[in-house]
Amino acid sequence: WEKLAIKRKNNDEISEMQQAYNAMIDRIEENRQKQERFVSDASHELRTPISVIKSYTELLQRRGKDKPEIFEEATASILSESDRMQHLTEQMLLLAKNEDQENLLFEQVNINQITRDVIRSLSTAYQREIKFYQEVDQDITISADRRKIHQAIYILVDNACKYSEDIVIVRMRDKQQLLSIDVVDKGEGLSAEDQEHIFDRFYRVDKARSRKAGGTGLGLAICHQIIQAHGGSIHITSQVNEGSTFTLTLPK
Ligand code: ADP
Repeated sequence: WEKLAIKRKNNDEISEMQQAYNAMIDRIEENRQKQERFVSDASHELRTPISVIKSYTELLQRRGKDKPEIFEEATASILSESDRMQHLTEQMLLLAKNEDQENLLFEQVNINQITRDVIRSLSTAYQREIKFYQEVDQDITISADRRKIHQAIYILVDNACKYSEDIVIVRMRDKQQLLSIDVVDKGEGLSAEDQEHIFDRFYRVDKARSRKAGGTGLGLAICHQIIQAHGGSIHITSQVNEGSTFTLTLPK
């Protein structure tokens, strides 16, 4: 913030200042609304696991002592809902931290290596074929936050595996000053309307499916935030029932 020193101004200068001031007020208001929506969505998301945990605990208290099957069911659900809450709170914290660019730890990272690591761990986890085409002459090293870039690529490849059943393709391309990574799946795809909101916090096309797969609706928002903080961009092309391609672009 800078102190405003107002000297004598002519009408043009005053109207310029007025426009700048109004634009600033709009931005503050927009941020306030975003914050408010985030808090209300977050409380809503946390309410579901809390009420499941509560009702199973009550059931345990009433009937868990002499019914082993109730004990089993209740404790398993309490555990999975607690896991869910833990994952959700960790992701919310991540979003809050990422907002502050000073939290990024820049170093020279081999982006091909990071992508290969992500592919290796996800193809093992999902027991799926993930093909990697490196359309670059040699490994590319960029200045980036290793953990965060790993996380952003992980989210995209993880989603591609989660929301499709067929082969997933990751393609890395060298575009002079830029580097791009396409994550291609032949899954359910997204409608034009869904594509518009896909990077919004907590946005999920099919809440039940995402929840079942352990999703929170925060993954793509986190990915978007990380890539933006690195001066890059992310976009999607998709067709319902044909699949999606998410493209990350990073400055080299
Ligand atoms: P989630 O944790 O629910 O996966 P994301 O923010 O990563 O949250 O994704 C938001 C929503 O976008 C998902 O719930 C899903 O409906 C949709 N989505 C994300 N990736 C894909 C994909 N590759 N194909 C189809 N739908 C997707």
